Amino acid sequence: MGIHCPQCDSANVQALHLILDAGTTHHSGNWSGYVAGADANGGTGGFLSGSVETTSKTGLAREVENFIYKGCPENSNNLHGLIWTGILAAVTWGSISMLMEFLHPKQKCDYTGRCITEDFPFFALMLGELPFFLIAIYLLQKLKKWVAVRNNYNKEYPKWLEAANYKYLNYFLCKKCGSFFDKNDAEDFNSSEN
Ligand SMILES: [Zn+2]
Repeated sequence: MGIHCPQCDSANVQALHLILDAGTTHHSGNWSGYVAGADANGGTGGFLSGSVETTSKTGLAREVENFIYKGCPENSNNLHGLIWTGILAAVTWGSISMLMEFLHPKQKCDYTGRCITEDFPFFALMLGELPFFLIAIYLLQKLKKWVAVRNNYNKEYPKWLEAANYKYLNYFLCKKCGSFFDKNDAEDFNSSEN
């Protein structure tokens, strides 16, 4: 017997990968996502995450895609922002140090040619270096978060991909009540009814 929806017992159901195949028009492009009906080796019926080619989808295919994609872990963005902030901080710090050296030279020579060396007053040191320390603390916090997000992504992504692949291959959509279900559950459900 065919597969029936476990919610409403309708037989008007369709496999998700078929909906995606039918509702997805393939174009070449740099769209980050998955492509239905083609795996990395050019075969069919696979689920692929990465940059692939697809630009237009029907509303139904979009809905199915959202269902399959649900729970995809967030990845860390690249470190460009952090690196630029670090460079900016270093340049700022250097500029302030130079400015302080200019305004308040360590070596002071009087008209007789006698020179004395004088350290920066403590408050001036703090004033000059406080922004640098604040930025360094900020960058360290950011970096810590970045590492945590990336570690989580590396840990969760394979599980998510497996689950998404499973949904792609095994889940059905009921076109009557709109629920998604696992065909394996539906078979259990239907056989227990009979
Ligand atoms: Zn249903």
